[in-house]
Amino acid sequence: MVEINGRTRTCGLIGNPVEHTMSPVIHNNLATATGENLTYVPFHVENGRLGDAVKGAFGLNILGMNVTVPYKSDVIPFLSDIDLLAKRIGAVNTLVRTEDGYKGYNTDMPGLLRAMKHDGVEVEGETIILLGAGGVARAVAMLLADNNAEKVYILNRTTDKAQKIADEINEYMGKEIIVAKKLDDYKTLPADKKYLAIQATSVGMYPKVDEAVIEDDDFYKMLHTGYDLIFNPLETKFMHLTKNNGANAFHGYRMLLYQGVIAYELWTNKSVPDELAEEVYAKMLAAMNA
Ligand code: NAP
Repeated sequence: MVEINGRTRTCGLIGNPVEHTMSPVIHNNLATATGENLTYVPFHVENGRLGDAVKGAFGLNILGMNVTVPYKSDVIPFLSDIDLLAKRIGAVNTLVRTEDGYKGYNTDMPGLLRAMKHDGVEVEGETIILLGAGGVARAVAMLLADNNAEKVYILNRTTDKAQKIADEINEYMGKEIIVAKKLDDYKTLPADKKYLAIQATSVGMYPKVDEAVIEDDDFYKMLHTGYDLIFNPLETKFMHLTKNNGANAFHGYRMLLYQGVIAYELWTNKSVPDELAEEVYAKMLAAMNA
């Protein structure tokens, strides 16, 4: 760990709750490994105190912050500037100190892309099934469109929400990349190809680990890869069904790693090589099992 002295810079996390966060494991290990005199601490911010928290952090010369649930959108009015991607997504998870205040970024989506790259999962030219149409799924749909996915079928319990995302992104892209469907409409998708499926619903998350948003083996037989964004548990029922039907399965823990790595790079202007990211990942796994 970094030895705290008069020159130590502080970064932190604001959210509610923050007690189970892995972010200190990520950033304090990165600081030690890169020789940065920086420490990272969680800050539990009560409802109604978000503005005070951001102002206070700036006043205390805090270098950068992560922002987690429930403040990723609510923090935007308290920023001096916002990155274009974060603005489009409408959610900020990283604040970077500037002269006038904090600039907001979203590193969740670049983090997912970097995790997928690590896992050897391609987006460009792929036909993708995206399960879910919540806040994260909307951002994932943008990421997939921006990274030249051939087609994205969004399947959601509430079809209207999937349709809204499709309309918004198709208009932005000027072509029909996203198609909204009901959850069991996978039965109507072209059967002459295998799909990448990205699981962006909250179904299967701890403690309800015995659930998957689709339980039919025929769905999983359509996949070459199933990518779950859930990271607790590390093997979800969705992943289990994916593997049982002969496809590759991945969890969301590396997305969590890389959103942190990218935030760290923004704060320190240092780039984190993959080998170092993997060392930190091993520490995250150890912390999860502790
Ligand atoms: P959200 O806005 O609450 O959306 C939840 C989604 O799950 C909606 O599409 C909802 O469908 C669907 N859903 C919930 N219960 C369902 C059920 N019983 N049957 C069918 N569908 C159901 O959540 P979010 O913020 O987008 O987060 C989604 C997931 O992303 C979470 O599991 C979270 O763990 C994961 N995540 C991972 C990372 C990472 O770093 N790996 C980061 C952020 C989030 P309706 O629209 O029909 O309600």
